[in-house]
Amino acid sequence: GLAAPVSLVVSGLRVQFGGFVAVSDASFDAHPGEVRFLIGPNGAGKTTCIDAITGLVRGTGSAKLGDDELLGRPVHRTARLGVGRTFQTASVFEEMSVLQNLDIAAGMNRRSAALLRPRRTVEPRIEAAAEQIGLAGSLEQRAGTLSHGQKQWLEIGMLLVQDARVLLLDEPVAGMSHDERTATGTLLQRIAEHRAVVVVEHDMDFMRRFATRVTVLHQGSVISEGSVAHVQADPRVQEVYLGS
Ligand code: ADP
Repeated sequence: GLAAPVSLVVSGLRVQFGGFVAVSDASFDAHPGEVRFLIGPNGAGKTTCIDAITGLVRGTGSAKLGDDELLGRPVHRTARLGVGRTFQTASVFEEMSVLQNLDIAAGMNRRSAALLRPRRTVEPRIEAAAEQIGLAGSLEQRAGTLSHGQKQWLEIGMLLVQDARVLLLDEPVAGMSHDERTATGTLLQRIAEHRAVVVVEHDMDFMRRFATRVTVLHQGSVISEGSVAHVQADPRVQEVYLGS
């Protein structure tokens, strides 16, 4: 089953590419029970923060998931510690069914012997994940034939069956219809009841509707943090958004 919910706490994160400092001092946290949005203009360093937390790029400072320090570990190690991440373009196995996609993701946490044993029934946690992402009725459908939104949800479902304890989602509603955005927001709120959720987002309307807490990045530093109402009223945030 799912381990006890834990928080992600990032403090003093710094990422440098050669002589260029992409993230100079980023601190934010994500607690189960809330949806943390990371916003900021293009080039602010949002994706780089996620890249550093997952181990894709090298960062200094600290990023703790529960008691575990994530910085300095490669991607497969942070994944094992419970870090789940989606990219702007969903990557599902298009030729396989929804069920096979979820099964492969779940298998990453199984021993190889268990992988080889044939299973005649759908595992409860796979069924539960499919239910949560709205694809319980489409388990046999080929993933390549899903809508853009459904592919994004399947990718989120793959993180759920991997028992990810924090989900880092890079612009999860890009390219989605209004209804799909609403469904995604509701899905993220439900997921956040038991896991830490960080959403990197450009879409201000989506942020207003579904963020619990917001961190605003600008040129690699945090310029504002708090509730939606708080950051929207912050003159520094208004300046950055009106000036960009
Ligand atoms: P955001 O996600 O907020 O739009 P990014 O994190 O993608 O911003 O990028 C922050 C800055 O770091 C940008 O100026 C970008 O060009 C730069 N950057 C990102 N990745 C690399 C890299 N691998 N090498 C050099 N510069 C990079």
